[in-house]
Amino acid sequence: MDEIGMARASEPVRVAKYFPAGFLSDPMADRCPECYAELPEDAIWVCPTCRYTLRTPGSAKVGVGFMVLGLVLLGTYIAGPERIGLESGAIPTDLAALMIANYPLMVIGAFGLGAFLAAAGALLIRREQGRAFAA
Ligand SMILES: [Zn+2]
Repeated sequence: MDEIGMARASEPVRVAKYFPAGFLSDPMADRCPECYAELPEDAIWVCPTCRYTLRTPGSAKVGVGFMVLGLVLLGTYIAGPERIGLESGAIPTDLAALMIANYPLMVIGAFGLGAFLAAAGALLIRREQGRAFAA
């Protein structure tokens, strides 16, 4: 049994929860904010002890951003793209006309890209969770 495994066995997660994180944490070791278990170096996204998601992959955040953008675009499309000031002269008329003509494509593109990136981020977490399960 390695050092981390021994520490885990002799120090139940249940007990660790009653202490503030700073009290128990070794400044050299990364600990899970949820269960305070020491994190092995290969635990990037998920705590192997409690499967807490340590951080959200950047791609998932960007993906959610794109999905929100897609929804906003969809909302403006339903409201009428010509009403959001595309033809106010802020951008060239040709470009405005092109944007209006391709609006459904923009909506689908933004939403599709967002969904893809979010799924890629979720897959990353799933994969590490799966590895934590197997261990
Ligand atoms: Zn944990």
